[in-house]
Amino acid sequence: MIIAVDGPAASGKGTIARELAAHFGLAWLDTGLLYRAVGVTVMRAEEDPDDPDAALAGCDFADDLLEDSELRSERAGNYASRVSVHPAVRAALIERQERFANQPGGAVLDGRDIGTVIAPQADAKLFVTASAEARADRRFADEVTSNPDADRDAILADIEARDERDSERASAPLKRADDADLLDTTNLTISAAVQRAIALVEARTGKR
Ligand code: C5P
Repeated sequence: MIIAVDGPAASGKGTIARELAAHFGLAWLDTGLLYRAVGVTVMRAEEDPDDPDAALAGCDFADDLLEDSELRSERAGNYASRVSVHPAVRAALIERQERFANQPGGAVLDGRDIGTVIAPQADAKLFVTASAEARADRRFADEVTSNPDADRDAILADIEARDERDSERASAPLKRADDADLLDTTNLTISAAVQRAIALVEARTGKR
């Protein structure tokens, strides 16, 4: 069984995907980490993420970078969003994601284009959203524990810029697949959102 979970930054899709994987006994891949690894590689090389050649060179990262905590930073997210615009970067990362999706035993992948491009054949697809304000509040609550100077309005502005870039790009934009179930988490606790996600997947697949 393949489950595709797509949606914008801080919608809750990562937690939902992880919990779905645990519930149904499937492997899980956070595909945003791949784009973040490319972004951080370009950032550390002090190259321009908007330059397609520099961004493509960043795809040649070592696997242990995927464990690096710097990938989780807002700056890495910003670089990831910029490198992910380039079709050559997306093409370089496709095979790895398809292989993961099609592994024996099944998988959950979360990202922006899983239900539309990477695994259009997925057995269940969720499109997880929340208002930009709610997502900024969540990111701020996360960030302020390690950074007392975290700026909620700057986080909101970054989320809005990322939404626009991810939705407007020509190559594999963020969009709900026609056959994806919508899950709006704006007014849901994380555990309510996870329960709802499990119920939607059960309804689609008949699996428990
Ligand atoms: O999900 P996360 O915030 O970690 O993703 C970082 C960035 O990587 C996104 O803003 C998006 O531009 C890009 N991305 C993508 N396709 C995916 C996953 C992430 O373009 N499947």
